[in-house]
Amino acid sequence: MNNPENPSNNFIRNIVEDDLASGKNGQRVVTRFPPEPNGYLHIGHAKSICLNFGIAAQYNGTCNLRFDDTNPGKESDEYAQAIKEDVQWLGFEWNELKHASDYFDELYDYARELIKKGKAYVDSSSAEEVREMRGTLTEPGIESPHRNRSVEQNLDLFERMKNGEFEEGAHILRAKIDMASGNINMRDPTLYRIRKVTHMRTGDDWSIYPMYDYTHCVSDAMENITHSLCTLEFEDHRPLYDWVLDELQTPAHPQQIEFARLSLEYTMLSKRQLIKLVEEKQVSGWDDPRMPTITGMRRRGYTPAALRDFCERIGITKNDAWIEMAVLETCIRDDLNEKSPRRMAVLDPIKVVITDLPEDHNETLSFANHPQNESFGRRPVAFTQQIMIDRDDFSEDPPPKYQRLVPGGEVRLRGSYVIKCEEVIKDEQGNVIELRCSHDANTLGKKPEGRKVKGVIHWVSATEGVKAEVRLYDRLFTIANPLSADSLESVINKDSCITMSSCFVEAALADAQPEEQFQFERLGYFVADRRDHKSGAPVFNRTVTLRDTWAK
Ligand code: ATP
Ligand code: MG
Repeated sequence: MNNPENPSNNFIRNIVEDDLASGKNGQRVVTRFPPEPNGYLHIGHAKSICLNFGIAAQYNGTCNLRFDDTNPGKESDEYAQAIKEDVQWLGFEWNELKHASDYFDELYDYARELIKKGKAYVDSSSAEEVREMRGTLTEPGIESPHRNRSVEQNLDLFERMKNGEFEEGAHILRAKIDMASGNINMRDPTLYRIRKVTHMRTGDDWSIYPMYDYTHCVSDAMENITHSLCTLEFEDHRPLYDWVLDELQTPAHPQQIEFARLSLEYTMLSKRQLIKLVEEKQVSGWDDPRMPTITGMRRRGYTPAALRDFCERIGITKNDAWIEMAVLETCIRDDLNEKSPRRMAVLDPIKVVITDLPEDHNETLSFANHPQNESFGRRPVAFTQQIMIDRDDFSEDPPPKYQRLVPGGEVRLRGSYVIKCEEVIKDEQGNVIELRCSHDANTLGKKPEGRKVKGVIHWVSATEGVKAEVRLYDRLFTIANPLSADSLESVINKDSCITMSSCFVEAALADAQPEEQFQFERLGYFVADRRDHKSGAPVFNRTVTLRDTWAK
């Protein structure tokens, strides 16, 4: 793995540096990030974004954002807007904002060029017939009976396809390459198909739409892209990319370079699959904090810096590999540890009454907001007669080495006094509802005399603290590769979202702004929910625990 401080030389950076040294593209570096606006971006896209925008920034180049909008019906402006917001949130600025549909006229004219050169033809075979004639990995394909139509006939049919004279599926335009090619992508691939669907930008102007492979290389050339970076599954498409640009003699001929896509354990990175989770309501939406989408991670409290650090650490290679979730979580912890002020919160409260203090005791203690960084300042924390502690921090029947509160035992309240549990009050069902404690007034900032008290627990004033809802998130799936399961539903982690609705947080958290981040001492990193948090009714999401609690 790479060192994030020092961008490592991956093989793509090496290619770019060689090209700069040889003057290949006139010292220019131009990249693009080309999402299809058919869903929200996920962490896999972040890898591509960081690579494309990162290369441009590193070598004084530029990077375009280009929407690959050639599949009307599946694409929408809502998705396009969300993609723009996510790219900016990650910290990147595109040079030009482009759409493949910007080039529909040019793509059409270029297709006519191919027809005129005898390099493309209209095929009227059915989709089924085309499939059958394509051959297999071991058998060559069969040439279509329409392959040798005259240029005039092809131009005429193509124009009438464009004019909407035919139904969907009646004809396609195909490149005329080689039906016996060992590479199936070169067996007369489809360039255009008839689609009578309203396009999000061009409306009903077109009845035909260009295919991805044809559109992509031409769009890259139109934008003078120098390095067209894509994932490995396009390696076998590269000969077609080059064929189109060679035949068309476009002004630029970008170089396609493939890298391994990101696969992350315990989640899945595919818009098509993620949309199912949203539609089947397995999650609350694209921005559910358990989703691997950028917007979900943002709502969860993952930071742009941590995601960029992650993309740098995993590096760019040509080998597909699964990345452990722990790698991502380490990046999040490293960033949040530095940046988040500390607070106290009690998730599952038990009331503690300190019986040797007056009922109206209200003492203002001063807490450092960050243990390693004084610039975070200090805050007042109210210590009162009634406080809340977490249910986990008390045990009547403690396991060995338990260093928290037990009947008759002592514990230190973080930043405050040592208390001793004198009495346990239960309800009729035997549930502990209150602990009555005494305190040692001589232990504020001092060790108790004559004895050792090892445990330190967090607490919140029951009278000055604020009620809050806290959502505890965990991995969405129970197995590392959810797509290997028979059904997604069978591998959803049913405990991946636990809502704690009667939490107590210290008063300083009442004014938190949505998206503000904190470390809740001993509990983890938390963010004020960007949708639901209100100052009168705080809602926090757990971003990540303090340590990797998942590794068994
Ligand atoms: P999905 O199946 O999620 O829709 P896609 O590749 O079809 O993925 P696009 O919108 O076409 O999605 O992708 C835009 C860019 O992001 C492409 O260059 C693609 O290679 C890249 N990309 C998508 N998924 C990943 C991934 N998991 N790792 C790295 N890059 C990715
Ligand atoms: Mg795609």
